[in-house]
Amino acid sequence: MTGGAVRVVVGAGQTDFVPSGMDKGTGLRALSARLGGHVALAVGDTGEDLPVFAGAVISRAPRNADDAVRAAGIPLTRGSYQSGLTQACAALLGHRPGSCPLCRLPVLAPRTAALCGVLGLRENGVRGLATRTALLTAATATHNRR
Ligand SMILES: [Zn+2]
Repeated sequence: MTGGAVRVVVGAGQTDFVPSGMDKGTGLRALSARLGGHVALAVGDTGEDLPVFAGAVISRAPRNADDAVRAAGIPLTRGSYQSGLTQACAALLGHRPGSCPLCRLPVLAPRTAALCGVLGLRENGVRGLATRTALLTAATATHNRR
């Protein structure tokens, strides 16, 4: 259909069209060369992410990683999805992201905090979803009583 010029990558909830001969590592290597640096941390959960691990100082895969990533021996985080990404960042920083003055999150407006809470409900898959939903509901109820 594309004459071999494009590779179709079907993901979870998305489909990517990638020029043949290119992968995520191609882009990352080009960016590193342009910036004159190295890749300090690579995080990925599918076989399409394998090229980004080459040359990275620290490589991590969230617990939801597919068989290709697991077979490659990439160290897994305890958490899945965004929770795993947070743990991978902690491996780079040496502390939990947001726990020092340098990387602490700004105080968010209540509506912004609520939106971030909704977006983060599935940050560790279904694990902890009930707790996060209850906390978000309580925070929203508290805010609405003011
Ligand atoms: Zn910090």
